[in-house]
Amino acid sequence: MARQQYSDFLRQLYGYRVQKLNVNAGFTCPNRDGSKGRGGCTYCNNASFTPSFGCASASVTQQLLDAKKFYAGKYSYMKYLAYFQSFTNTYAPIERLRELYDEALAVEDVLGLVISTRPDCLNDDVVELLQGINEEYKVIVEIGVETSHDSTLELINRCHSWKCAQDAINRVVQRGVTVGAHLILGLPGETEEDMISTVDEVAKLPISTIKFHQLQVLRGTELARQWERGDVDVIDWSAKDYAQFCRRIVNRLPERILVERIVSTAPSELLLHPKWGLKPAQFYEIFQNIL
Ligand code: SF4
Repeated sequence: MARQQYSDFLRQLYGYRVQKLNVNAGFTCPNRDGSKGRGGCTYCNNASFTPSFGCASASVTQQLLDAKKFYAGKYSYMKYLAYFQSFTNTYAPIERLRELYDEALAVEDVLGLVISTRPDCLNDDVVELLQGINEEYKVIVEIGVETSHDSTLELINRCHSWKCAQDAINRVVQRGVTVGAHLILGLPGETEEDMISTVDEVAKLPISTIKFHQLQVLRGTELARQWERGDVDVIDWSAKDYAQFCRRIVNRLPERILVERIVSTAPSELLLHPKWGLKPAQFYEIFQNIL
């Protein structure tokens, strides 16, 4: 049986064809602001995934209106999800979170929220807030797991453990909220067998969706400095090698877990490694041709 497409999953959940609209609500992360660490994850450069209309100085409403304008006319029947993507989108006092989420949901044709966060920023108050919103709208929480190996989590300065990720996923799902997991393949020092064991462990959790991509070494990051000095080993996949590895992973995942994305393409001016020079559609073509 063919695996369900992520877009069909969203259409079922929301009853419409939906487009995610990125919101940068001006959050930070506990491994950036000193509460747990400094500098953030070693590979992180938020500029690589924040679109031009996701400017934190504009209000949530304004960002959503600008993004709607950007997509207007593509599909007149389209509705929207507010995608709180940049940094850790549950890392603020509970009243502030409520205010920001309510503001997004007040925008016309926004049907729900997709909230990207870290597992250590989902305390019981936050989970209760998400549960309450989910009862009226639909919420998807995207949790950055990255790997199940604590030694790697430490090396990349995540400042949380694998156990913390398992616990967060279980607690959010127990409250009826849909959870997606985010993984990075090719983290420093990891072998393909290490990555497969992460995928197998994550697949035991009650997630609905999974998103993974290859590690990208981005200009201006701590990882780039470590890589340039030769202090870390980063796997050197060709696009075809990586596509073959993705196929092995997708084949291992149970049908109940939908695969949202398997590759990421940072802007070429930021990307140091791997430089495949492919657009996502070109990568997917390679992937589709691997049986
Ligand atoms: S938690 Fe996410 S946004 Fe924050 S430093 Fe790490 S990768 Fe970047």
